[in-house]
Amino acid sequence: MVERVYLDWNATAPLRPEARAAATVALDMVGNPSSVHGEGRAARRVVEQARAAVAGLVGAKADAVIFTSGGTEANVLALTPTINVAGDKAPRGQLLVSAIEHPSVRAGGRFSTGAVEEIPVTAAGVADLAALERRLAALAGSGRLLVSLMHANNETGVVQPIAAAADLVHAAGGLLHVDAVQSAGKIACDINALGADLLTLSAHKLGGPKGVGALVIGRAELHIADPLLKGGGQERGARAGTENVVGIAGFGAAAEAAARGLADDAARMSSLRERLEAGLKAVSPDAVIFGATAERLPNTTLVAVPGLKAETALIALDLDGVAVSSGSACSSGKVTPSHVLAAMGVEAGLARGAIRVSLGPVTTENEIGVFLRAWTKLAKGLSKGSNTRRGLAA
Ligand code: PLP
Repeated sequence: MVERVYLDWNATAPLRPEARAAATVALDMVGNPSSVHGEGRAARRVVEQARAAVAGLVGAKADAVIFTSGGTEANVLALTPTINVAGDKAPRGQLLVSAIEHPSVRAGGRFSTGAVEEIPVTAAGVADLAALERRLAALAGSGRLLVSLMHANNETGVVQPIAAAADLVHAAGGLLHVDAVQSAGKIACDINALGADLLTLSAHKLGGPKGVGALVIGRAELHIADPLLKGGGQERGARAGTENVVGIAGFGAAAEAAARGLADDAARMSSLRERLEAGLKAVSPDAVIFGATAERLPNTTLVAVPGLKAETALIALDLDGVAVSSGSACSSGKVTPSHVLAAMGVEAGLARGAIRVSLGPVTTENEIGVFLRAWTKLAKGLSKGSNTRRGLAA
């Protein structure tokens, strides 16, 4: 049997043992966290412990965490005109998002299509702060803006200048939502240091279960007046429905483990990633690594080689036991050109060949070796194929 090597951690991370253990215990808890009896109170304790752990990962207070069904729901919950600040109920008229946001942000949440505007990024894949500043100045007076920027991009891994953006947004009287789904658990992600008013997390990207996430509120005086789910008063009215105790327990344990290992994991992944990229360049000197001139997550490489199609590479690597993806997971399988690379001005043909390799804290040197051997086979096939094509054209 071919040894499997999983290098698609940005799509989803394998469950951490701590998360499995906590979720397994929670599976057998009978109580509803809203019930006052002992069983209910035991379930409530699990939820509240997890809330504290998730808050701890991002330097927030426990009561700032609203559990959701994942990153997508947290993004849609955050992106609403009806965010009250200190009781001020006047709606926000405009949403600015960067051109490289996840589709759940680019869709604009509950803003009307006409109220959503995109901010460009540089060729390195970094949000163009000068362009943001110009738009903020042009919209000055409207005052009631919401800006949404991701902390790190899921395809390139490029880390965005969030703290600087927060200063600009706040000076213009706006609020800043940060999608930290890809950064949390991989690099430091402190809601106060970032200056985020709202911050999105997803458990399955950091070794928790799929189908649970959180919206973290950065300031006590901030209140989302129109929850997506109304009904029972769970999550202090912000998200009705009996809590996903199993998922939340796993999320809390994963967040705690991620926070504990953060510095060591980042250093390990970064050195493996260096090895991976040096190996890629040695085999394919014309390989383009996107966002390589910017600060990136320690675990992510997005690479393309002229003439190599992503779908061909994915299938060949998969047959050799290596799981990677083309651009973002959402578009893999469909092989639509990446909006991220398009926004960076990458030529469409090259962008269509983009392959994302993303590592995790337990990725080994041996696995990088397996990947590089499979890549070498692929690259040799490519050079033979292109010689043939050249031969035919001649
Ligand atoms: N935001 C980013 C940057 C992501 O990469 C993803 C998942 O791919 C999401 C949001 C959505 O998170 P979830 O899968 O929990 O809905």
